[in-house]
Amino acid sequence: MSQAEDIESVDEDGVIESVSGPVVTATDLDARMNDVVYVGDEGLMGEVIEIEGNLTTIQVYEETSGVGPGEPVENTGEPLSVDLGPGMLDSIYDGVQRPLDVLEDKMGTAFLDRGVDAPGIDLEKEWEFEPEVEEGDEVEPGDVVGIVPETVTIDHKVMVPPDYEGGEVTAVESGEFTVEETVVELSSGEEIQMHQEWPVREARPAGNKETPTEPLVTGQRVQDGLFPLAKGGTAAIPGPFGSGKTVTQQQLAKWSDADIVVYIGCGERGNEMTEVIEDFPELPDPQTGNPLMARTCLIANTSNMPVAARESCIYTGITIAEYYRDMGYDVALMADSTSRWAEAMREISSRLEEMPGEEGYPAYLAAALSEFYERAGKFQLINGDEGSISVVGAVSPPGGDFSEPVTQNTLRIVKTFWALDADLAERRHFPSINWNESYSLYKDQLDPWWTDNVADDWAETRQWAVDVLDEEDELQEIVQLVGKDALPEDQQLTLEVARYLREAWLQQNALHDVDTYCEPEKTYRMLTAIKTFNDEAFDALDAGVPPEEITDVEAAPKLNRMGTAEEWEEFIDEIENDLKEQLRELY
Ligand code: ADP
Repeated sequence: MSQAEDIESVDEDGVIESVSGPVVTATDLDARMNDVVYVGDEGLMGEVIEIEGNLTTIQVYEETSGVGPGEPVENTGEPLSVDLGPGMLDSIYDGVQRPLDVLEDKMGTAFLDRGVDAPGIDLEKEWEFEPEVEEGDEVEPGDVVGIVPETVTIDHKVMVPPDYEGGEVTAVESGEFTVEETVVELSSGEEIQMHQEWPVREARPAGNKETPTEPLVTGQRVQDGLFPLAKGGTAAIPGPFGSGKTVTQQQLAKWSDADIVVYIGCGERGNEMTEVIEDFPELPDPQTGNPLMARTCLIANTSNMPVAARESCIYTGITIAEYYRDMGYDVALMADSTSRWAEAMREISSRLEEMPGEEGYPAYLAAALSEFYERAGKFQLINGDEGSISVVGAVSPPGGDFSEPVTQNTLRIVKTFWALDADLAERRHFPSINWNESYSLYKDQLDPWWTDNVADDWAETRQWAVDVLDEEDELQEIVQLVGKDALPEDQQLTLEVARYLREAWLQQNALHDVDTYCEPEKTYRMLTAIKTFNDEAFDALDAGVPPEEITDVEAAPKLNRMGTAEEWEEFIDEIENDLKEQLRELY
């Protein structure tokens, strides 16, 4: 956060009138909505959320115990902003963009003390700036003026800030500089540094939103194959505890073909977030072999941090994502969990004694959620380039009940819904994404990508799988009543095919070296192998072969080993040949 430097702009101090948890009221404060203020003798950071006459209400991003009436409130006159510049990748921040390692050094403990400020990016570190413009070039807002190798994986693009006028380049530097030193000067008198600030509640300007046509390839068969997310799309993962939310989000962070990952751990239990903080820095990036953190920014706000900070971490995260989008990158943002953020809104709202909406959540819950997801998208950027932000929000409905307000409001906004299912998880069917309840509204617009890049008959093949799974769902009801053997022979076969779809195709083991990632070609080939079994099996049935003989062929169970097969092309070719040979021998 960058407001610390601007303290000179302080108007008259206000005085605290009351303190109620994270909500503080002050009198005589000359402030505007969303101004950042420092509260109390310790200078705790807060944000103005309501002004009524002489009374200003503030939500405080730090623990307020011991703070009392009569203490001063200082206004910075600046909105809550993030520091944007090289060094954000490979960083772990708290909800107000204070780097955890810097704070730890300052405090000597992981338990953050109050009133400690630290800039979001290192102001002293020197970075190698390679200019991309020359004196005399005309530049406009959003144009790239130089490159900084930020990490081993990512080049950071230094841009003309979106709120600049732009003009002719009158001076340009090359070499090592801190983020505060000027590297490019313009005829407008504007100076460009490697560092920008941006108010978190304001979306960074972009040109048109475009219809996304490329999938965010996740490497997970059920997601890519049945319920795809577009690059620039929105998705929600609701799921009860233990259903695999964390593993699913981490698989996305690791394997999805995004350039940049912003991972917001928002208010989940302290130990879960600690796991992420400890695990991520150890993980290699499977795409490059470099550390995963070289393209990742982590924002960690555990549930023992004050509730108001959950809100700021969501906004901080999305603003950082927009900044990398502006460089032309495809960014994937994961928020785990948006339910904790909604609970924070509920708490603040009840302390403000606002009229409660459904289940005590404020009436503006839906608007706040949609404003957040609205910042996702595939954009034509102001510099003419393209970039995208895909947003994946985890939802933790109490008791796994999807009818509660956060899940329901999220469902109205997002276009991909990955419903995690406790029963599937209990049966060790992973990922426990329920294929009957989940959906993706991107399917049709992404099909041309699959046709062009994977297989001409992708859409028909997938539809075949969907139909078989639907039929299985209907048949299961009958089976439960009368048993499988009472079914006609063709339906018995359909159940067998559906079983392979579930066990060999939809199930995928995140903990297996090979199976953990499945490229789109393999996803398609595994499906066509099961379809070959289906087609050959029904031919055999038509020729009078009894179903038990068909399902007993030796090659069939090998379908279950396709996912873990390293040399999958040969392996699948061989299974298909064996299946044909063995089934045709039966008649
Ligand atoms: P949640 O975050 O919803 O509480 P987790 O993501 O921690 O649940 O998952 C619980 C457990 O389920 C994991 O420890 C792991 O053993 C298993 N699991 C979840 N997803 C997968 C997967 N895709 N492959 C293999 N195991 C999984």
